Amino acid sequence: MRRIASPLRNCTTVLGVVAAAATGTSLLFGQTLHWEPVGLFAFGLFCLGYAAVLSRRSRTKESEVSAQPVPARRPQIVREEAAPASAASRVQGPCHALTIDLEDYFHTEVASQGVAAADWDRQPSRIEASTHRLLDLLEERRTRATFFVLGWVARRYPALVQEIHRRGHEVGCHSLNHGLVCRMTPKEFYENTRTARDLIASITGEAVLGYRAPCFSITPGTEWAFDTLARLGFSYDSSVHPVSHPLYGNPNAPRSAYRVADGTLTEFPIATWKVAGRNFPVGGGAYLRLLPYQYIRQGLRAWERQMQSPAMLYLHPWEIDPYQPYIPLSLQSKIRQTWGTSMMEDKLRNLLEQFRFAPVRDVHASWLTSASLAPSRPSFQRAQTAEQVAG
Ligand SMILES: [Zn+2]
Repeated sequence: MRRIASPLRNCTTVLGVVAAAATGTSLLFGQTLHWEPVGLFAFGLFCLGYAAVLSRRSRTKESEVSAQPVPARRPQIVREEAAPASAASRVQGPCHALTIDLEDYFHTEVASQGVAAADWDRQPSRIEASTHRLLDLLEERRTRATFFVLGWVARRYPALVQEIHRRGHEVGCHSLNHGLVCRMTPKEFYENTRTARDLIASITGEAVLGYRAPCFSITPGTEWAFDTLARLGFSYDSSVHPVSHPLYGNPNAPRSAYRVADGTLTEFPIATWKVAGRNFPVGGGAYLRLLPYQYIRQGLRAWERQMQSPAMLYLHPWEIDPYQPYIPLSLQSKIRQTWGTSMMEDKLRNLLEQFRFAPVRDVHASWLTSASLAPSRPSFQRAQTAEQVAG
């Protein structure tokens, strides 16, 4: 046993030293070089080392106390691999929120460097194929999710939105044309969001409860957007990512759900992993695509230990598509847009096998139906009446 443990310890030590050096270099020079992927990679290495140390400590402790019964400290997050009839029912434990921002590969902020919004109509679209693959995978795992739909996509592919709705997923709003909130005036934001909401609701026939801003762009200084969303009849928002990031970070925001807009709207931030007083991203997207899967897994396990609420995860259909058509981008942007897409589906499959997920409206039902919210707030008519107030 010691013969195995010793090389493992040496290996972890070497990994830790390399990761610490890489992380230090990235922190010192990352901003100057503007080389975010190096930082991501270094951080991934660091977390792998950290996870390995935690895992070894936990195994050692288990062997030390194997003769004694394990105290049930947190029974709600104990996970037992029973022998179930269905694949999905194998997973036990808390249920997290899985969300998908429904947009094509050329809608992203990164892609805007190579494709102007005026040329979107001429781009070869990939969204239908990618979304159907996602829908099939979710069905295979008997999992439902929340799809935050871009207004542009709803207008061009209404049948796709209907299909998502027909398969039992929640349909939310992901803006009209992927404009960042922090680049809009309150009036523009109101008009854009109202148009997108109406478009989506006219396809599904249901009120739209949830909103996600492109690039998590409700940042310090744009909190007025919460009031606008409440006036438009939304029940919740999920546009705050409490990490440090040059474009969208809000590291001082709460990590779990909280009320905004005088208690009439609930914010569900993206999941983070708190280590040494700092928040690190584990909520999916580029972090799931570019970093080792074990890092995300350990981060979510840490969330379950640290928090008593569902974690919020996100991804995009284009992230499982390794055959995105060419867009002229810098190397750094190319990495952010395309790297890891060939492994993303396997990573998502692993997540769905090891964790439980459901739409936001289901995992956070208690927040959305609690007494502090007005009883019939997602009312279309009332929201439309409120537009004069915003104007
Ligand atoms: Zn987006």
